[in-house]
Amino acid sequence: MIPLKWGGSMNEYQEKYVALKKQFEQSKGDSFSVTALYDFKESLEESEAIAAKEVLVNVYDLLNYKKDAYDLLSSIGDLSDVKIKKRLGKMKEYAENWRNNFAIPKPKTEEDIQKEKEMLAELGIPTFKYHPNPLNTGAFEISEEGVVCDCCGKVTHIYYEGPFYAVDDIDYLCPACIASGKASEKFDGSFQDDYSVDDGVKDAEKLDELIHRTPGYCGWQQEYWRAHCGDFCAYLGRVGAMELQALDVMDEVLDDPMWDDEQKEMIEHSVNGGHLQCYLFQCLHCGKHLVWMDFD
Ligand SMILES: [Zn+2]
Ligand SMILES: [Zn+2]
Repeated sequence: MIPLKWGGSMNEYQEKYVALKKQFEQSKGDSFSVTALYDFKESLEESEAIAAKEVLVNVYDLLNYKKDAYDLLSSIGDLSDVKIKKRLGKMKEYAENWRNNFAIPKPKTEEDIQKEKEMLAELGIPTFKYHPNPLNTGAFEISEEGVVCDCCGKVTHIYYEGPFYAVDDIDYLCPACIASGKASEKFDGSFQDDYSVDDGVKDAEKLDELIHRTPGYCGWQQEYWRAHCGDFCAYLGRVGAMELQALDVMDEVLDDPMWDDEQKEMIEHSVNGGHLQCYLFQCLHCGKHLVWMDFD
């Protein structure tokens, strides 16, 4: 941390930072406190004041924008100051290894969700009930120059990167061929192992949609699909404890007969991208969140 001037008076930026940090720590990083930090981050980014930039280093650090924190302090810090040099030394390793990859996600507003939907529609990604944002989760990749879909033979700028269990070697599938079921039909393949799913879904049509017409996701081990309220859940992406806190869903996720006490503790200490990876799902009917987890 940049030492705050406790002897003198704190400036307005430092005061606000101290208050927001306290709120963040006391709530263990709930969505309200994270949203407040993001709003503060954006206002600091717009300011030219050096005092604002100094505090912005701390905000970046707290939100896990390790590379941004390091880069900013490198550019504004007084390198003849031993404390700053020492702090930069500590931050460097995180900046290089983590970059900004583990930044706490900004909680989404209704408006953000609507915008996301519009963007997917513009890109020509069909609606996948059980995998609503396959671009965010990394199931689909974007190719500027385009690739040829192995199923329909057309050039596509968005192609599937997840698992597809088929005898033939398939390089590229376009979103339309997945959604229509043509890809699974043509190659007699599936996107999810039908045994690695929760029990309790009686409707065969639902299983058919999940394994034959829904993009899968990449886990460390065999991917598993959660179900709730008699239907499969929507897969939302990879998370760790920090993300679960920021989404305010940790309690929901732990309230699950799937996990014993030891496993619950693992979830509470999981790190997105770490050895123990959690995958987040949400029930399409009651809205409850559930996770699956595996090890690398
Ligand atoms: Zn295609
Ligand atoms: Zn439910």
